[in-house]
Amino acid sequence: MQNLSSNFDSFTNFNQHTYIYIMAEQLTPITIAYGDGIGPEIMNAVMRIIKAAGARIKEEVIEIGEKVYLSGNTSGIGPEAWESLRRTKVFLKGPITTPQGGGFKSLNVTTRKMLGLYANVRPCVSYAPYVDTKHPSMDVVIIRENEEDLYAGIEHQQTPEVVQCLKLITRPGTEKIIRYAFEYAKQYGRKKVTCFAKDNIMKQTDGLFHKVFDEIGAEYPEIEKEFWIVDIGAAKLADSPEVFDVIVMPNLYGDILSDVAAQIAGSVGLAGSANIGEEVAMFEAIHGSAPRRAGQNLANPSGLLLGAIQMLVHIGQGDVAEKVHNAWLKTLEDGYHTYDIYKEGVSTQKVGTKEFADAVIERLGQRPAKLKAVDYSQAKEAIKVKLKPAKPSQMETVGVDIFLYHEDRNANKLGDALKKIEVNGLHLTMITNRGVKVYPDGLPETFCTDHWRCRFKANNAITYKDILALQTAVTEAGFNIIKTENLCRINGVEAFSAGQGA
Ligand code: NAD
Repeated sequence: MQNLSSNFDSFTNFNQHTYIYIMAEQLTPITIAYGDGIGPEIMNAVMRIIKAAGARIKEEVIEIGEKVYLSGNTSGIGPEAWESLRRTKVFLKGPITTPQGGGFKSLNVTTRKMLGLYANVRPCVSYAPYVDTKHPSMDVVIIRENEEDLYAGIEHQQTPEVVQCLKLITRPGTEKIIRYAFEYAKQYGRKKVTCFAKDNIMKQTDGLFHKVFDEIGAEYPEIEKEFWIVDIGAAKLADSPEVFDVIVMPNLYGDILSDVAAQIAGSVGLAGSANIGEEVAMFEAIHGSAPRRAGQNLANPSGLLLGAIQMLVHIGQGDVAEKVHNAWLKTLEDGYHTYDIYKEGVSTQKVGTKEFADAVIERLGQRPAKLKAVDYSQAKEAIKVKLKPAKPSQMETVGVDIFLYHEDRNANKLGDALKKIEVNGLHLTMITNRGVKVYPDGLPETFCTDHWRCRFKANNAITYKDILALQTAVTEAGFNIIKTENLCRINGVEAFSAGQGA
Protein backbone atom coordinates (compact mmCIF):
# COMPACT_ATOMS: atom_id res chain seq x y z
CA MET A 1 0.00 0.00 0.00
CA GLN A 2 2.80 2.29 1.03
CA ASN A 3 4.61 1.42 -2.14
CA LEU A 4 1.59 2.00 -4.22
CA SER A 5 1.00 5.33 -2.56
CA SER A 6 4.57 6.44 -3.06
CA ASN A 7 4.34 5.27 -6.65
CA PHE A 8 1.17 7.25 -6.99
CA ASP A 9 2.90 10.25 -5.39
CA SER A 10 5.82 10.05 -7.72
CA PHE A 11 3.38 9.62 -10.63
CA THR A 12 1.49 12.78 -9.64
CA ASN A 13 4.77 14.57 -9.00
CA PHE A 14 5.96 13.55 -12.42
CA ASN A 15 2.71 14.70 -13.95
CA GLN A 16 2.74 17.97 -12.06
CA HIS A 17 6.31 18.65 -13.12
CA THR A 18 5.63 17.66 -16.67
CA TYR A 19 2.51 19.82 -16.64
CA ILE A 20 4.42 22.77 -15.18
CA TYR A 21 7.20 22.20 -17.68
CA ILE A 22 4.76 22.11 -20.59
CA MET A 23 2.98 25.19 -19.28
CA ALA A 24 6.25 27.07 -19.02
CA GLU A 25 7.14 25.96 -22.54
CA GLN A 26 3.84 27.20 -23.91
CA LEU A 27 3.91 30.61 -22.28
CA THR A 28 5.07 33.29 -24.68
CA PRO A 29 7.40 35.78 -23.01
CA ILE A 30 6.39 39.40 -23.59
CA THR A 31 7.81 42.68 -22.34
CA ILE A 32 5.43 45.18 -20.80
CA ALA A 33 5.90 48.78 -19.66
CA TYR A 34 3.21 50.35 -17.51
CA GLY A 35 4.09 53.83 -18.73
CA ASP A 36 3.15 57.16 -17.17
CA GLY A 37 -0.04 59.02 -16.19
CA ILE A 38 -3.03 56.73 -16.75
CA GLY A 39 -0.64 54.01 -18.03
CA PRO A 40 -0.46 51.84 -14.86
CA GLU A 41 -4.26 51.81 -14.41
CA ILE A 42 -5.07 50.84 -17.98
CA MET A 43 -2.21 48.30 -18.15
CA ASN A 44 -3.48 46.61 -14.96
CA ALA A 45 -6.98 46.43 -16.42
CA VAL A 46 -5.70 45.01 -19.71
CA MET A 47 -3.47 42.38 -18.10
CA ARG A 48 -6.35 41.29 -15.87
CA ILE A 49 -8.68 40.87 -18.85
CA ILE A 50 -6.30 39.00 -21.13
CA LYS A 51 -5.14 36.69 -18.34
CA ALA A 52 -8.74 35.91 -17.38
CA ALA A 53 -9.30 35.03 -21.04
CA GLY A 54 -6.44 32.51 -20.84
CA ALA A 55 -3.61 34.43 -22.56
CA ARG A 56 -0.60 32.10 -22.59
CA ILE A 57 1.96 34.79 -21.75
CA LYS A 58 4.70 35.43 -19.24
CA GLU A 59 5.54 39.09 -18.82
CA GLU A 60 8.80 40.88 -18.06
CA VAL A 61 8.24 44.40 -16.78
CA ILE A 62 10.55 47.21 -17.88
CA GLU A 63 10.78 50.83 -16.75
CA ILE A 64 10.67 53.41 -19.54
CA GLY A 65 9.41 56.97 -19.90
CA GLU A 66 9.24 59.92 -17.54
CA LYS A 67 11.29 58.47 -14.65
CA VAL A 68 14.02 57.33 -17.02
CA TYR A 69 14.01 60.66 -18.86
CA LEU A 70 14.25 62.60 -15.61
CA SER A 71 17.09 60.39 -14.36
CA GLY A 72 19.16 61.96 -17.15
CA ASN A 73 18.66 59.43 -19.94
CA THR A 74 17.41 61.60 -22.85
CA SER A 75 16.09 58.60 -24.80
CA GLY A 76 13.74 57.52 -21.96
CA ILE A 77 14.81 53.88 -22.22
CA GLY A 78 17.79 52.13 -20.61
CA PRO A 79 20.02 49.16 -21.57
CA GLU A 80 18.08 46.52 -19.53
CA ALA A 81 14.88 47.52 -21.29
CA TRP A 82 16.52 47.09 -24.71
CA GLU A 83 17.81 43.67 -23.61
CA SER A 84 14.34 42.54 -22.57
CA LEU A 85 12.83 43.75 -25.86
CA ARG A 86 15.48 42.00 -27.91
CA ARG A 87 14.94 38.83 -25.88
CA THR A 88 11.12 38.62 -25.95
CA LYS A 89 10.62 40.49 -29.26
CA VAL A 90 7.08 41.42 -28.19
CA PHE A 91 6.32 44.70 -26.44
CA LEU A 92 3.04 45.88 -24.91
CA LYS A 93 3.63 49.51 -24.08
CA GLY A 94 1.65 51.86 -21.85
CA PRO A 95 1.54 55.56 -22.81
CA ILE A 96 4.57 57.67 -21.97
CA THR A 97 4.87 61.29 -20.87
CA THR A 98 7.56 63.09 -22.83
CA PRO A 99 8.92 65.82 -20.52
CA GLN A 100 8.63 69.36 -21.89
CA GLY A 101 11.77 71.16 -22.96
CA GLY A 102 14.64 70.47 -25.27
CA GLY A 103 16.89 67.44 -25.38
CA PHE A 104 14.32 64.68 -24.74
CA LYS A 105 13.91 62.41 -27.74
CA SER A 106 10.58 60.78 -28.62
CA LEU A 107 10.65 57.26 -27.21
CA ASN A 108 8.21 56.09 -29.87
CA VAL A 109 10.35 57.27 -32.74
CA THR A 110 13.49 55.83 -31.09
CA THR A 111 11.87 52.42 -30.50
CA ARG A 112 10.42 52.24 -34.00
CA LYS A 113 13.68 53.11 -35.67
CA MET A 114 16.08 51.15 -33.47
CA LEU A 115 14.00 47.97 -33.68
CA GLY A 116 13.09 48.38 -37.36
CA LEU A 117 9.33 48.51 -36.72
CA TYR A 118 8.48 49.31 -40.32
CA ALA A 119 4.69 48.85 -40.30
CA ASN A 120 2.23 50.79 -38.19
CA VAL A 121 -1.15 49.08 -38.28
CA ARG A 122 -4.14 50.98 -36.97
CA PRO A 123 -7.65 49.57 -37.29
CA CYS A 124 -10.26 52.37 -37.14
CA VAL A 125 -13.72 50.98 -36.54
CA SER A 126 -16.95 52.71 -35.56
CA TYR A 127 -19.18 51.20 -32.89
CA ALA A 128 -22.47 52.95 -33.64
CA PRO A 129 -24.91 53.42 -32.06
CA TYR A 130 -22.95 52.74 -28.85
CA VAL A 131 -20.21 55.28 -29.59
CA ASP A 132 -21.18 58.53 -31.31
CA THR A 133 -19.91 58.87 -34.89
CA LYS A 134 -21.00 60.40 -38.18
CA HIS A 135 -19.77 57.25 -39.94
CA PRO A 136 -21.63 54.27 -38.50
CA SER A 137 -20.34 51.68 -40.97
CA MET A 138 -16.66 52.62 -40.93
CA ASP A 139 -14.15 49.75 -40.73
CA VAL A 140 -10.80 50.89 -42.12
CA VAL A 141 -7.28 49.68 -41.40
CA ILE A 142 -4.56 52.26 -41.96
CA ILE A 143 -1.15 50.74 -42.67
CA ARG A 144 1.50 53.42 -42.38
CA GLU A 145 5.15 53.09 -43.37
CA ASN A 146 6.93 53.82 -40.12
CA GLU A 147 10.63 54.45 -40.73
CA GLU A 148 11.24 56.49 -43.87
CA ASP A 149 9.92 59.53 -45.71
CA LEU A 150 10.46 62.92 -44.04
CA TYR A 151 10.87 61.11 -40.70
CA ALA A 152 14.45 60.12 -41.52
CA GLY A 153 15.15 63.31 -39.57
CA ILE A 154 17.84 64.58 -41.94
CA GLU A 155 17.43 68.34 -41.83
CA HIS A 156 19.87 71.13 -42.57
CA GLN A 157 19.89 74.86 -42.73
CA GLN A 158 21.50 75.48 -46.10
CA THR A 159 21.57 79.23 -46.39
CA PRO A 160 20.47 82.05 -44.08
CA GLU A 161 17.06 81.85 -45.78
CA VAL A 162 16.55 78.18 -46.53
CA VAL A 163 16.19 75.00 -44.46
CA GLN A 164 15.77 71.54 -45.89
CA CYS A 165 14.31 68.18 -44.78
CA LEU A 166 15.30 65.17 -46.82
CA LYS A 167 12.47 62.88 -47.93
CA LEU A 168 13.80 59.35 -48.30
CA ILE A 169 11.71 56.62 -49.88
CA THR A 170 13.58 53.37 -50.51
CA ARG A 171 12.62 50.44 -52.72
CA PRO A 172 13.16 47.78 -49.99
CA GLY A 173 11.31 49.90 -47.40
CA THR A 174 8.40 50.40 -49.81
CA GLU A 175 8.34 46.73 -50.87
CA LYS A 176 8.13 45.69 -47.21
CA ILE A 177 5.19 47.95 -46.33
CA ILE A 178 3.22 47.30 -49.51
CA ARG A 179 3.67 43.54 -49.23
CA TYR A 180 2.73 43.73 -45.54
CA ALA A 181 -0.51 45.53 -46.50
CA PHE A 182 -1.47 42.85 -49.03
CA GLU A 183 -0.53 40.00 -46.66
CA TYR A 184 -2.57 41.69 -43.92
CA ALA A 185 -5.58 41.96 -46.25
CA LYS A 186 -5.21 38.27 -47.13
CA GLN A 187 -4.90 37.14 -43.52
CA TYR A 188 -7.82 39.21 -42.25
CA GLY A 189 -10.15 38.51 -45.18
CA ARG A 190 -10.10 42.10 -46.42
CA LYS A 191 -11.25 42.74 -49.98
CA LYS A 192 -9.45 45.88 -51.10
CA VAL A 193 -6.10 47.66 -50.60
CA THR A 194 -5.91 51.36 -51.46
CA CYS A 195 -2.67 53.30 -51.79
CA PHE A 196 -2.43 57.05 -51.06
CA ALA A 197 0.53 59.11 -52.32
CA LYS A 198 1.28 62.34 -54.15
CA ASP A 199 3.16 61.15 -57.22
CA ASN A 200 1.69 63.82 -59.48
CA ILE A 201 4.08 66.20 -57.67
CA MET A 202 6.79 63.97 -56.14
CA LYS A 203 7.41 61.81 -59.16
CA GLN A 204 10.59 60.16 -57.86
CA THR A 205 9.75 59.48 -54.18
CA ASP A 206 5.97 59.02 -54.15
CA GLY A 207 6.30 57.79 -57.74
CA LEU A 208 8.37 54.85 -56.46
CA PHE A 209 5.77 54.14 -53.75
CA HIS A 210 2.99 54.02 -56.37
CA LYS A 211 5.07 51.94 -58.80
CA VAL A 212 5.91 49.33 -56.14
CA PHE A 213 2.22 49.24 -55.12
CA ASP A 214 1.28 48.37 -58.73
CA GLU A 215 4.09 45.79 -59.04
CA ILE A 216 3.33 43.96 -55.79
CA GLY A 217 -0.44 44.36 -56.10
CA ALA A 218 -0.29 42.37 -59.35
CA GLU A 219 0.76 39.35 -57.26
CA TYR A 220 -2.57 39.46 -55.37
CA PRO A 221 -5.23 39.05 -58.08
CA GLU A 222 -7.92 38.13 -55.51
CA ILE A 223 -7.61 41.56 -53.79
CA GLU A 224 -9.06 44.72 -55.34
CA LYS A 225 -6.54 47.54 -55.74
CA GLU A 226 -6.96 51.29 -56.10
CA PHE A 227 -4.79 54.38 -55.95
CA TRP A 228 -5.76 57.87 -54.79
CA ILE A 229 -3.75 61.08 -54.82
CA VAL A 230 -3.45 61.71 -51.08
CA ASP A 231 -5.24 65.08 -50.94
CA ILE A 232 -8.47 63.96 -52.56
CA GLY A 233 -8.08 60.53 -50.93
CA ALA A 234 -7.91 62.20 -47.51
CA ALA A 235 -11.03 64.24 -48.31
CA LYS A 236 -12.85 61.07 -49.35
CA LEU A 237 -11.68 59.27 -46.20
CA ALA A 238 -12.98 62.07 -43.98
CA ASP A 239 -16.28 62.19 -45.87
CA SER A 240 -17.07 58.56 -46.78
CA PRO A 241 -14.69 56.23 -44.88
CA GLU A 242 -16.98 53.27 -45.55
CA VAL A 243 -15.71 53.04 -49.15
CA PHE A 244 -12.22 52.11 -47.89
CA ASP A 245 -10.96 48.82 -46.49
CA VAL A 246 -7.15 48.69 -46.04
CA ILE A 247 -5.18 51.87 -46.90
CA VAL A 248 -1.39 51.87 -47.20
CA MET A 249 0.60 55.14 -47.17
CA PRO A 250 4.04 56.66 -46.72
CA ASN A 251 4.95 57.83 -43.22
CA LEU A 252 3.80 61.47 -43.09
CA TYR A 253 0.40 60.99 -44.75
CA GLY A 254 -0.12 57.89 -42.59
CA ASP A 255 0.75 59.77 -39.40
CA ILE A 256 -1.83 62.45 -40.10
CA LEU A 257 -4.57 60.34 -41.63
CA SER A 258 -4.45 57.53 -39.09
CA ASP A 259 -5.35 60.08 -36.39
CA VAL A 260 -8.09 61.54 -38.58
CA ALA A 261 -9.47 58.05 -39.23
CA ALA A 262 -9.40 57.10 -35.52
CA GLN A 263 -11.12 60.35 -34.55
CA ILE A 264 -13.93 60.14 -37.11
CA ALA A 265 -14.55 56.51 -36.15
CA GLY A 266 -15.64 57.84 -32.76
CA SER A 267 -12.65 58.54 -30.56
CA VAL A 268 -8.87 58.38 -30.60
CA GLY A 269 -9.32 56.90 -27.11
CA LEU A 270 -10.71 53.72 -28.64
CA ALA A 271 -7.92 52.85 -31.04
CA GLY A 272 -4.97 50.53 -30.60
CA SER A 273 -2.02 50.16 -32.88
CA ALA A 274 0.69 47.68 -33.76
CA ASN A 275 4.22 48.54 -34.84
CA ILE A 276 5.59 45.54 -36.66
CA GLY A 277 9.22 44.75 -37.48
CA GLU A 278 10.96 41.74 -38.97
CA GLU A 279 11.96 40.56 -35.48
CA VAL A 280 10.27 42.70 -32.85
CA ALA A 281 6.74 44.12 -32.60
CA MET A 282 5.30 46.80 -30.30
CA PHE A 283 1.63 47.24 -29.37
CA GLU A 284 0.00 50.24 -27.72
CA ALA A 285 -2.98 52.57 -27.47
CA ILE A 286 -2.79 55.55 -29.78
CA HIS A 287 -3.62 58.07 -27.05
CA GLY A 288 -1.08 59.53 -24.63
CA SER A 289 -0.66 59.40 -20.85
CA ALA A 290 -3.52 61.88 -20.09
CA PRO A 291 -1.80 63.02 -16.85
CA ARG A 292 -4.83 65.03 -15.70
CA ARG A 293 -6.91 61.84 -15.57
CA ALA A 294 -4.27 59.75 -13.82
CA GLY A 295 -4.90 57.91 -10.53
CA GLN A 296 -8.67 58.48 -10.53
CA ASN A 297 -9.92 55.18 -11.95
CA LEU A 298 -11.39 57.17 -14.85
CA ALA A 299 -9.40 56.19 -17.94
CA ASN A 300 -10.78 54.01 -20.69
CA PRO A 301 -8.50 50.97 -21.13
CA SER A 302 -10.00 50.12 -24.56
CA GLY A 303 -7.19 51.56 -26.75
CA LEU A 304 -4.53 49.54 -24.94
CA LEU A 305 -6.81 46.49 -24.86
CA LEU A 306 -7.21 46.65 -28.64
CA GLY A 307 -3.41 46.93 -28.92
CA ALA A 308 -3.12 43.85 -26.69
CA ILE A 309 -5.60 42.01 -28.93
CA GLN A 310 -3.38 42.75 -31.93
CA MET A 311 -0.46 41.41 -29.87
CA LEU A 312 -2.29 38.16 -29.07
CA VAL A 313 -2.99 37.60 -32.77
CA HIS A 314 0.66 38.36 -33.55
CA ILE A 315 1.92 35.71 -31.10
CA GLY A 316 -0.43 33.08 -32.49
CA GLN A 317 -3.11 33.32 -29.80
CA GLY A 318 -5.97 34.34 -32.11
CA ASP A 319 -8.34 32.20 -30.00
CA VAL A 320 -7.71 34.36 -26.91
CA ALA A 321 -7.75 37.57 -28.99
CA GLU A 322 -11.15 36.66 -30.42
CA LYS A 323 -12.56 35.85 -26.97
CA VAL A 324 -11.37 39.17 -25.51
CA HIS A 325 -12.42 41.25 -28.51
CA ASN A 326 -15.95 39.82 -28.65
CA ALA A 327 -16.40 40.23 -24.87
CA TRP A 328 -15.23 43.84 -25.21
CA LEU A 329 -17.73 44.48 -28.03
CA LYS A 330 -20.49 42.95 -25.89
CA THR A 331 -19.50 45.23 -22.99
CA LEU A 332 -19.78 48.32 -25.23
CA GLU A 333 -23.09 47.05 -26.52
CA ASP A 334 -24.41 46.48 -23.00
CA GLY A 335 -23.74 50.16 -22.33
CA TYR A 336 -20.90 49.88 -19.79
CA HIS A 337 -19.00 53.03 -20.74
CA THR A 338 -16.16 55.04 -19.22
CA TYR A 339 -16.64 58.81 -18.93
CA ASP A 340 -15.07 59.58 -22.32
CA ILE A 341 -17.75 57.70 -24.31
CA TYR A 342 -20.61 57.86 -21.80
CA LYS A 343 -23.81 59.28 -23.29
CA GLU A 344 -27.23 59.65 -21.66
CA GLY A 345 -29.79 57.49 -23.40
CA VAL A 346 -27.18 55.18 -24.97
CA SER A 347 -25.02 54.15 -22.03
CA THR A 348 -26.49 52.15 -19.19
CA GLN A 349 -23.70 52.58 -16.62
CA LYS A 350 -20.87 55.06 -16.23
CA VAL A 351 -17.99 52.92 -15.03
CA GLY A 352 -14.39 53.43 -13.97
CA THR A 353 -11.34 51.65 -15.36
CA LYS A 354 -11.58 48.71 -12.93
CA GLU A 355 -15.33 48.23 -13.31
CA PHE A 356 -15.02 48.34 -17.08
CA ALA A 357 -12.40 45.57 -16.91
CA ASP A 358 -14.70 43.55 -14.60
CA ALA A 359 -17.56 43.94 -17.08
CA VAL A 360 -15.37 42.64 -19.94
CA ILE A 361 -14.19 39.70 -17.81
CA GLU A 362 -17.79 38.80 -16.95
CA ARG A 363 -18.58 38.63 -20.68
CA LEU A 364 -15.66 36.44 -21.75
CA GLY A 365 -17.14 33.71 -23.93
CA GLN A 366 -20.01 35.96 -25.11
CA ARG A 367 -20.38 37.59 -28.52
CA PRO A 368 -21.97 40.91 -29.42
CA ALA A 369 -25.58 40.73 -30.59
CA LYS A 370 -25.66 43.84 -32.80
CA LEU A 371 -22.05 44.90 -33.40
CA LYS A 372 -20.10 42.71 -35.82
CA ALA A 373 -18.29 39.93 -33.94
CA VAL A 374 -14.63 39.36 -34.84
CA ASP A 375 -13.18 36.14 -36.20
CA TYR A 376 -9.44 35.56 -35.95
CA SER A 377 -9.48 31.93 -37.08
CA GLN A 378 -7.50 32.79 -40.24
CA ALA A 379 -4.88 34.78 -38.32
CA LYS A 380 -2.82 31.90 -37.05
CA GLU A 381 0.61 33.47 -37.01
CA ALA A 382 2.50 36.73 -37.38
CA ILE A 383 2.72 38.10 -40.92
CA LYS A 384 6.25 37.64 -42.28
CA VAL A 385 7.27 39.60 -45.32
CA LYS A 386 10.00 38.26 -47.58
CA LEU A 387 11.80 40.62 -49.92
CA LYS A 388 12.69 39.39 -53.38
CA PRO A 389 16.37 39.83 -54.31
CA ALA A 390 17.01 43.18 -55.95
CA LYS A 391 17.29 43.16 -59.73
CA PRO A 392 20.69 44.35 -60.97
CA SER A 393 20.57 47.96 -62.16
CA GLN A 394 22.81 49.83 -64.53
CA MET A 395 23.56 53.26 -63.12
CA GLU A 396 25.52 56.03 -64.82
CA THR A 397 26.14 59.64 -63.84
CA VAL A 398 25.27 62.20 -66.52
CA GLY A 399 25.51 65.46 -64.63
CA VAL A 400 25.30 67.26 -61.32
CA ASP A 401 23.06 69.79 -59.59
CA ILE A 402 25.26 72.30 -57.79
CA PHE A 403 23.47 74.26 -55.05
CA LEU A 404 24.78 77.74 -54.36
CA TYR A 405 24.32 80.23 -51.56
CA HIS A 406 24.19 83.47 -53.57
CA GLU A 407 22.85 86.75 -52.21
CA ASP A 408 22.37 88.61 -55.52
CA ARG A 409 18.82 87.79 -56.78
CA ASN A 410 19.63 88.47 -60.47
CA ALA A 411 19.14 85.06 -62.10
CA ASN A 412 20.31 86.15 -65.56
CA LYS A 413 23.55 87.59 -64.21
CA LEU A 414 24.24 84.36 -62.29
CA GLY A 415 23.36 82.20 -65.30
CA ASP A 416 25.53 84.19 -67.71
CA ALA A 417 28.50 83.85 -65.34
CA LEU A 418 28.06 80.09 -64.83
CA LYS A 419 27.48 79.53 -68.56
CA LYS A 420 31.13 80.44 -69.12
CA ILE A 421 32.26 77.46 -67.01
CA GLU A 422 32.50 74.17 -68.91
CA VAL A 423 34.50 71.19 -67.58
CA ASN A 424 34.87 67.83 -69.37
CA GLY A 425 31.60 68.33 -71.26
CA LEU A 426 29.65 69.44 -68.17
CA HIS A 427 27.78 72.65 -69.03
CA LEU A 428 25.00 74.67 -67.43
CA THR A 429 21.52 73.69 -68.66
CA MET A 430 19.31 75.53 -66.20
CA ILE A 431 19.03 77.28 -62.83
CA THR A 432 16.05 76.93 -60.52
CA ASN A 433 15.09 78.75 -57.34
CA ARG A 434 12.84 76.75 -54.96
CA GLY A 435 12.38 74.30 -57.87
CA VAL A 436 11.15 76.90 -60.38
CA LYS A 437 13.22 77.51 -63.49
CA VAL A 438 14.67 81.03 -63.48
CA TYR A 439 17.38 80.64 -66.13
CA PRO A 440 17.36 80.60 -69.07
CA ASP A 441 14.15 82.43 -69.91
CA GLY A 442 12.81 82.83 -66.38
CA LEU A 443 9.93 85.16 -65.57
CA PRO A 444 10.67 88.43 -63.75
CA GLU A 445 7.70 87.73 -61.43
CA THR A 446 9.26 84.58 -59.90
CA PHE A 447 10.31 85.18 -56.31
CA CYS A 448 13.91 84.21 -55.59
CA THR A 449 15.70 83.35 -52.35
CA ASP A 450 19.44 83.05 -51.65
CA HIS A 451 19.38 79.31 -52.58
CA TRP A 452 20.05 78.36 -56.22
CA ARG A 453 20.10 74.96 -57.91
CA CYS A 454 22.40 75.06 -60.95
CA ARG A 455 22.15 72.05 -63.26
CA PHE A 456 25.20 70.98 -65.22
CA LYS A 457 24.82 68.12 -67.69
CA ALA A 458 27.09 66.28 -70.09
CA ASN A 459 26.13 64.40 -73.25
CA ASN A 460 27.99 61.30 -72.07
CA ALA A 461 28.46 59.46 -68.80
CA ILE A 462 30.85 61.26 -66.46
CA THR A 463 32.86 60.35 -63.35
CA TYR A 464 32.93 61.89 -59.90
CA LYS A 465 36.35 63.32 -60.78
CA ASP A 466 34.65 65.40 -63.50
CA ILE A 467 32.20 66.68 -60.87
CA LEU A 468 35.07 67.57 -58.52
CA ALA A 469 36.85 69.42 -61.34
CA LEU A 470 33.63 71.34 -62.06
CA GLN A 471 33.22 72.22 -58.38
CA THR A 472 36.79 73.51 -58.30
CA ALA A 473 36.11 75.70 -61.34
CA VAL A 474 32.84 77.05 -59.87
CA THR A 475 34.55 77.78 -56.53
CA GLU A 476 37.50 79.49 -58.25
CA ALA A 477 35.02 81.69 -60.13
CA GLY A 478 33.96 83.00 -56.68
CA PHE A 479 30.72 81.06 -56.04
CA ASN A 480 29.70 79.54 -52.73
CA ILE A 481 28.74 75.84 -53.12
CA ILE A 482 26.55 74.46 -50.33
CA LYS A 483 25.89 70.98 -51.70
CA THR A 484 25.68 68.85 -54.82
CA GLU A 485 23.38 66.08 -56.06
CA ASN A 486 24.49 63.68 -58.80
CA LEU A 487 22.20 63.28 -61.81
CA CYS A 488 21.89 59.61 -62.71
CA ARG A 489 20.42 57.46 -65.43
CA ILE A 490 19.21 54.11 -64.06
CA ASN A 491 18.75 51.41 -66.70
CA GLY A 492 18.79 54.13 -69.35
CA VAL A 493 16.08 56.29 -67.71
CA GLU A 494 16.81 59.74 -66.26
CA ALA A 495 16.26 59.43 -62.49
CA PHE A 496 15.83 63.07 -61.42
CA SER A 497 13.09 65.66 -61.60
CA ALA A 498 12.95 68.45 -64.14
CA GLY A 499 12.64 72.07 -62.97
CA GLN A 500 9.11 73.52 -62.79
CA GLY A 501 8.57 75.48 -65.97
CA ALA A 502 11.58 73.77 -67.61
P1 NAD B 1 -3.46 62.41 -24.43
O1 NAD B 1 -3.91 61.44 -25.47
O2 NAD B 1 -2.66 61.88 -23.32
O3 NAD B 1 -4.75 63.09 -23.77
C1 NAD B 1 -5.64 63.97 -24.42
C2 NAD B 1 -7.00 63.91 -23.73
O4 NAD B 1 -7.68 62.76 -24.20
C3 NAD B 1 -6.90 63.75 -22.21
O5 NAD B 1 -6.93 64.97 -21.54
C4 NAD B 1 -8.12 62.94 -21.88
O6 NAD B 1 -9.22 63.79 -21.72
C5 NAD B 1 -8.36 62.11 -23.12
N1 NAD B 1 -7.88 60.73 -23.02
C6 NAD B 1 -6.74 60.20 -23.54
N2 NAD B 1 -6.67 58.89 -23.28
C7 NAD B 1 -7.77 58.58 -22.58
C8 NAD B 1 -8.27 57.38 -22.03
N3 NAD B 1 -7.62 56.21 -22.15
N4 NAD B 1 -9.43 57.42 -21.35
C9 NAD B 1 -10.11 58.55 -21.23
N5 NAD B 1 -9.70 59.72 -21.73
C10 NAD B 1 -8.54 59.74 -22.40
O7 NAD B 1 -2.72 63.59 -25.19
P2 NAD B 1 -1.86 64.81 -24.59
O8 NAD B 1 -2.56 65.40 -23.41
O9 NAD B 1 -1.57 65.66 -25.76
O10 NAD B 1 -0.48 64.17 -24.12
C11 NAD B 1 -0.17 63.82 -22.79
C12 NAD B 1 1.20 63.17 -22.75
O11 NAD B 1 1.17 61.95 -23.48
C13 NAD B 1 2.31 64.01 -23.39
O12 NAD B 1 3.45 63.93 -22.59
C14 NAD B 1 2.55 63.35 -24.72
O13 NAD B 1 3.88 63.51 -25.16
C15 NAD B 1 2.26 61.91 -24.40
N6 NAD B 1 1.86 61.04 -25.55
C16 NAD B 1 2.33 59.78 -25.52
C17 NAD B 1 1.95 58.88 -26.53
C18 NAD B 1 2.48 57.48 -26.48
O14 NAD B 1 3.12 57.11 -25.52
N7 NAD B 1 2.22 56.67 -27.49
C19 NAD B 1 1.07 59.30 -27.54
C20 NAD B 1 0.57 60.61 -27.51
C21 NAD B 1 0.97 61.49 -26.50
